[in-house]
Amino acid sequence: MNSQILVIGAGMAGIAAARTLHDAGCRVTVLEARNRIGGRTHTDSNLGVDVDLGAAWIHGPIANPLVPLAEQHGVGWGETDFFNIHGGAVMAFRPDGTPIDEAAYTAGIHYFAGAYNHLFSSLLAKQPGDDVRSVADLMDFGLPGQEQLTGDAAAGFYYTSRVRIRYEDAADLDTVDWRMGRAYMKLPGGDLLVYRGGFGRLAAGLAQGLEIRTGVVVERIVYGPDGVTVATNQGDFAAEKVVVTVPLGVLKAGVIDFSPTLPPEKQAAIRRIGFGNYEKLALRFPHIFWPTGPHRFNYLSDADPPLYMAWLNNAHYTGEPVLVAYHAAGLAQHTNRLNDEQLIAGALETLGRMFGPDVPDPVSYVRSGWEADPFSRGSYSFSQLGMAVEDRAALAAPVGEHIFFAGEATHPHYWATVHGAYETGVRAAREVLDGVGRGWGVGLSL
Ligand SMILES: Cc1cc2nc3c(=O)[nH]c(=O)nc-3n(C[C@H](O)[C@H](O)[C@H](O)COP(=O)(O)OP(=O)(O)OC[C@H]3O[C@@H](n4cnc5c(N)ncnc54)[C@H](O)[C@@H]3O)c2cc1C
Repeated sequence: MNSQILVIGAGMAGIAAARTLHDAGCRVTVLEARNRIGGRTHTDSNLGVDVDLGAAWIHGPIANPLVPLAEQHGVGWGETDFFNIHGGAVMAFRPDGTPIDEAAYTAGIHYFAGAYNHLFSSLLAKQPGDDVRSVADLMDFGLPGQEQLTGDAAAGFYYTSRVRIRYEDAADLDTVDWRMGRAYMKLPGGDLLVYRGGFGRLAAGLAQGLEIRTGVVVERIVYGPDGVTVATNQGDFAAEKVVVTVPLGVLKAGVIDFSPTLPPEKQAAIRRIGFGNYEKLALRFPHIFWPTGPHRFNYLSDADPPLYMAWLNNAHYTGEPVLVAYHAAGLAQHTNRLNDEQLIAGALETLGRMFGPDVPDPVSYVRSGWEADPFSRGSYSFSQLGMAVEDRAALAAPVGEHIFFAGEATHPHYWATVHGAYETGVRAAREVLDGVGRGWGVGLSL
């Protein structure tokens, strides 16, 4: 029997799986379609600072397996205080560009956090009917006391409840099933921006010494009792076992042909779990013309569509004249239809409103393109309306004794994150090592 193990995809799940298998003494090769490793972690240094065009934050450093890795490989981070808990971290602007009162705005943010938790527990007790299914329904159902918020506090509440939350799912609120989302867990300890070295350094460090073949696009996986043959643009590879870590977006597109076809439960999971969109535009200017204290700028746009509402102040961390604009869900898809000139023109107009008319042209820029990228086809998974509670476990489950699955979308609690992807890689490697596919063995219950 061929003892070769193949891992498909060199994102965080694939690298973690290969690392675990390699360190256990297995013969393992990673096949990666792109000419780089890291997958949806991708650090770009063309602006003179490390800008992560994919994942940028370690969400919750406590008990997070990425933290010791980041320390080991010299990745530097700084906290992003999204909820302005310590003050001075979030600066918000009205549509006309006038600044919003920080204290009132922060009160609105904090009111949302408290009210949302309250709403969750009261809904759990009430078991509302089928008319409250999406996160948008949940907001309309009413967060207690929200009508008492006015002015700048209402703006903080609105931004957090309708805009920021869209980034967490990379999906519009009317497409997200709040009940499924309850399985999501957030690690404690805040959010750390890995601005020095970025996730690229972390991925490269974890991949040291592994055999990774880049530029190898997997097209077909034929499996049976005697093992697996993986057909690629670079010829066929034979293996005893294969760990598949390609993004859910790639599985949805059906561009990898499984023979025999995947079991119906897995196909249904691939269809039903949502896969969102999230894009970034990073701009480097000749000099800093904005305040460096805040971590984030929130712009309460009243345009249709409301673009350029979320900004990261890279200068706060690096001291360099760099800003990053974020778009998620339908807004990200909208920006993907704009050419570079259009996208940048809109960004400059918004910056002009916020920081005065003397906004210089950027000296350089980079933008992501996850939706159009054939090896991601979107950003990350979310709890789509219509999804079943067992779907993530079905996606994670091995097929027979030869095909194993990892990747962020297979995690029962930490999907849509790098640490989640990492954990699924380790889990799949252990299944391979056990010789028995066990899946997570976790039943999600409502
Ligand atoms: C814009 C954006 C912002 C994000 N922000 C954060 C954040 O701040 N914090 C956080 O924790 N998470 C964040 N995430 C999510 C995080 O990046 C992902 O959850 C995680 O990186 C996924 O890792 P993975 O290994 O599951 O998949 P991937 O990293 O996508 O790896 C899959 C690999 O498979 C390869 N592949 C695809 N098709 C083929 C094929 N046919 N043949 C061979 N190889 C193939 C791909 O090239 C890729 O390298 C963000 C994601 C995006 C896109």
